[in-house]
Amino acid sequence: MKIQRMKRVLFIDRDGTLIVEPPETFQIDNLEQLEFIPAVIRNLYFIRKKLDFELVIVSNQDGLGSRDYPVETFESVQDKMINIFKNEGVIFDKVFIDPSRPEDNLPTRKPGTAMLTEYMTGDYDLENSFVIGDRLTDVELAKNLGCRAILYNKKELLDNKPELKSVCCLVASDWDTVSEFLFAKERCATIRRKTKETEIYIQLNLDGTGKTAISTGLHFFDHMLEQIGKHAGMDLDIHVTGDLKVDEHHTIEDTGIALGEALLQALGEKRGIERYGFYLPMDDCICSVALDFGGRPWLVWEVEFCREKVGDVPTEMFFHFFKSLSDAAKMNLNICANGQNEHHKIESIFKGFARAIKMAIHRDIFNYELPSTKGVL
Ligand SMILES: [Mg+2]
Repeated sequence: MKIQRMKRVLFIDRDGTLIVEPPETFQIDNLEQLEFIPAVIRNLYFIRKKLDFELVIVSNQDGLGSRDYPVETFESVQDKMINIFKNEGVIFDKVFIDPSRPEDNLPTRKPGTAMLTEYMTGDYDLENSFVIGDRLTDVELAKNLGCRAILYNKKELLDNKPELKSVCCLVASDWDTVSEFLFAKERCATIRRKTKETEIYIQLNLDGTGKTAISTGLHFFDHMLEQIGKHAGMDLDIHVTGDLKVDEHHTIEDTGIALGEALLQALGEKRGIERYGFYLPMDDCICSVALDFGGRPWLVWEVEFCREKVGDVPTEMFFHFFKSLSDAAKMNLNICANGQNEHHKIESIFKGFARAIKMAIHRDIFNYELPSTKGVL
């Protein structure tokens, strides 16, 4: 029996998402104002060609048909836009325009779904469909449809509506990121690791913004792990309850293992990644961190410490942390550092490590090959 996949849709807002919205009037009523959002055409072409989404425009055009906004004015811009997209290979399956004003309170107006009932009859896989738009009403539309939302705006827009955060699977202000997300999916991992010595929870998003929430019970270690998230541009939550009453060893070692496992899991097939990274920071220290996500663990560690502890962490544990991490992530890691100030030295190692990761995990969906002649990493 042939299994037919349910149809999926991208419900795409128009003004502010496909074409630039004029900042004062919010109304594009002549051809001179028609300006495409950067990279939208080539990315929608890529999506149309490589993915199986139906493309549907859903737009509120306040007061369309009134004296202030005649239909002919709207159509001259709309037709031109649709034609330019068509000439570049981007065909929209349907276009839905609601002409009402907010005060009319019509169910056809976004975030209402009355124009879109044909998608709500069970023939469509709405859970794996998306609304893409620049306003919170677009996110609300996604919620009302049972889709997920891609907010084409700044994430601060969600600050006043925390209840919509869970509907948003991506906040982006460039179309390259949107098509990368739709094509190559999220690179996230969740690790739960429990032994008699430690209990660890890690949540990692390689394509995050550097947001971290770290608590290991060791203040200096927390500070260093924050550097990894921040400087690699990854969202990283790490919560560890370890047997600190014995000593710091298991907490640091097991965190290294779990973080390595999270990296390995989030990288997945490693398609399109740069694979290698290196970094050379310099203050009173010279430090280099080079790495390769090549699938084999190795650690070179040329670092000597003159103090027994930095903060509440024994310096001997840093080698152990990176060894555990490189083993679990199956990466080559080469770390050298020289300098006078022990705090600077270790901080530059963590920052350098983070920057090396950032370079190595960078992904190019237009060159979505494995960076290896072996065919596997
Ligand atoms: Mg809009």
